[in-house]
Amino acid sequence: NNNNQTILVTGCAGFIGSNFVPYFLDKYPEYNLINLDLLTYAGNLENLKECEENPRYKFIKGDICNRDLVEFIFTEYDIQGVIHFAAESHVDNSIKNPGVFVNTNVNGTFTLIDVAYKYWMDKPFNYKADYKKSRFHHISTDEVYGTLTDDPKDLFTETTPYAPNSPYSASKASSDMIIRAYNETYGMNTVITNCSNNYGPKQHDEKLIPTIIRKALNNESIPIYGDGKNIRDWLYVLDHCKGIDIVYHTGKTANTYNIGGRNERTNLQIVDAICTILDTKVPSKTLTSYKELITFVEDRAGHDRRYAIDATKLEDELGWKADENFDTGIVLTVDWYLDKYK
Ligand code: NAD
Repeated sequence: NNNNQTILVTGCAGFIGSNFVPYFLDKYPEYNLINLDLLTYAGNLENLKECEENPRYKFIKGDICNRDLVEFIFTEYDIQGVIHFAAESHVDNSIKNPGVFVNTNVNGTFTLIDVAYKYWMDKPFNYKADYKKSRFHHISTDEVYGTLTDDPKDLFTETTPYAPNSPYSASKASSDMIIRAYNETYGMNTVITNCSNNYGPKQHDEKLIPTIIRKALNNESIPIYGDGKNIRDWLYVLDHCKGIDIVYHTGKTANTYNIGGRNERTNLQIVDAICTILDTKVPSKTLTSYKELITFVEDRAGHDRRYAIDATKLEDELGWKADENFDTGIVLTVDWYLDKYK
């Protein structure tokens, strides 16, 4: 359809983007999506097999830092919106190798928004008024806010000062600031969403939940950092995608929205929940419970103690709410990995 709008989505061979693309293509027949992804170790086209045949979806392998390529894509496909997922995303890797995080997350985000600005500034529409033609949506993390105390009333809101502690969160915080500056300085139509920890299908093996399931099935020890009491606020990945959809379409320009499911869990509670499900679904032949495999390992350097999101703004202003609670979402998730690792 020639009247379709073409949206550039970046990094969608990764975990969240590959859950987002099929959802978005299905919901909006009026959009074409171009997925620009470098296919680093974290990207896997298997994640998008279900979209390969869709004429409204196109994959381009390339680096968001490659300005010539990004300019070519804007011109060739007349890009009318951007939803920017691409990033280096694993905190442990950022401790070992911070440079690539600064390059992709900071320089890459700068390249994308600067090209978008220069492409769109020549168009006969107003950035602030006509979001459908020109919105730049930046996907970010709650880790930019630093760490919280154990007081349950202490929550991240959109006005919590930035205090990133890892090279990963520092690079994401920097990219958020670049987006902010392009709104303030050039009047670009930008929105940012800062989401808590996601879980669900298609996450890379290196992350906590897939690791727990894989190690348990292989009868290997399940490594847990420190005392296992670090708290994260877990959100089912499709609920994140639905939040992005709502903010992209109805969020106010220049605004930040926190996305989180009010599902705080310690890492130990996560392992316990998963082991309990596995004990019923695929009981071990040698162990009474997979929990016997839990092993505490030396804590991650600079490990933030607690993250928890106050999503009131997104809920009250834009009407978002999570569809899955942790108990339902974790069963869907375990089932997906059981199928993958069987
Ligand atoms: P991921 O690591 O699974 O996927 C990242 C994707 O980006 C991969 O497909 C990779 O190939 C691609 N990529 C990396 N560098 C690139 C480059 N230079 N050019 C083009 N593509 C490149 O990450 P994810 O978990 O899907 O996270 C997506 C976004 O959401 C990130 O911006 C992340 O900061 C943010 N986020 C993630 C979570 C979470 O829990 N996973 C929570 C909040 C926010």
